[in-house]
Amino acid sequence: MDHFFQAIKQVGMDWCPGIKEEQNSYRSELAGIDGGLSMIAVILKFFDITEGGIEIALDGDSALNSAKASREFLNSFQSSYDLLQDIRNRLTAIPEGIKIKWRWVKLHQDDKGYNKLDWWAKSNIKADKIAKEFCRKCIRNNRIHKPVQLWYEHFAIRVNGIKESKLNKKNLYSASQKDNILNYWRNHHDFAIANTEDIDWESFRLANARLPLGLQRWLVKFATGFIGNRHKLNQRREFPTSKCPNCDHPIEKSSHVLQCKNSQALLELDKNVLKVKEKLSEMKTLPILQDAIIEILKNWKHGKTIRPSKFSRTAGLRDAVTHQSRLGWHNFFLGHWSKLWQQVRKNHLQEIKTRLSRSRWTVSIINKIMHLTYEI
Ligand SMILES: [Zn+2]
Repeated sequence: MDHFFQAIKQVGMDWCPGIKEEQNSYRSELAGIDGGLSMIAVILKFFDITEGGIEIALDGDSALNSAKASREFLNSFQSSYDLLQDIRNRLTAIPEGIKIKWRWVKLHQDDKGYNKLDWWAKSNIKADKIAKEFCRKCIRNNRIHKPVQLWYEHFAIRVNGIKESKLNKKNLYSASQKDNILNYWRNHHDFAIANTEDIDWESFRLANARLPLGLQRWLVKFATGFIGNRHKLNQRREFPTSKCPNCDHPIEKSSHVLQCKNSQALLELDKNVLKVKEKLSEMKTLPILQDAIIEILKNWKHGKTIRPSKFSRTAGLRDAVTHQSRLGWHNFFLGHWSKLWQQVRKNHLQEIKTRLSRSRWTVSIINKIMHLTYEI
């Protein structure tokens, strides 16, 4: 029997399951372990083997540690929860008489001289080469990345029909609430956003996440109108009038607060505009874009009309101003920016041939303007 097994050499290759975005070397190593275990399961079943030993070797230590940690609870939020669940259940299904041993093989030992290496190291190099060739072939053939529910994956969550590799709160929340939230903003009484798909929500999210928690809460209350302004207080019959306490405006909604001519607010604006200006300069912003943003912040606060035709067409600046005018300048103050601002940055960076990030710019400037909104 021993002689017979020595003669068996099985080489298996598997295309790692899951969507393209979640592929990484950790997941590939786990897919290798899982594929190996599925081959072992077939061999054990076919030959009815119930005793003996299995040694699983790989060079990825984090995948190895996750796979062999059979006594630890799996967390459904942990990376590659699906593969780990399948691995765990496959290991449990192996007959008790078969002992499993794990071996970590040091990566890239071939630079020491291939012939000096032991069998494990040589096999690791061979496996690595086969895997790379297989991967290249799959890429050449445009093989798609496909999330599948694994054999021993007892339950799986699908979001919009796509199986998740782990529980992802953001995806779940987005799938269940996105339409409700966008509809809320489309029909908002004060800060309506007609074309919600035109907003650079990702930059807004990141800029908002950088705010202190208290300021994040304040911004939500302010934007929704559920804050102690006179409009809301009057609506709740907690105050006799909705009139602005600082000027003669008849309804003090949040949008009015942004444009109230109260002298203290105007002073705060001047102070905070300087901080935005510093940030724009620090981020190496195209000078005409710097000037445009500062001019818009000041003029809009002073109740002046923003005329897109006054702005240069360079780098698509006028398109961004026109687009934001349609979305509303109050939205600009709240961080709901047109996607075209990022395009202006991109055009400028291409022009000056630099590798600076365009998204970091948008996030930093939106963040600064959110601070400014809070101060005024
Ligand atoms: Zn006012």
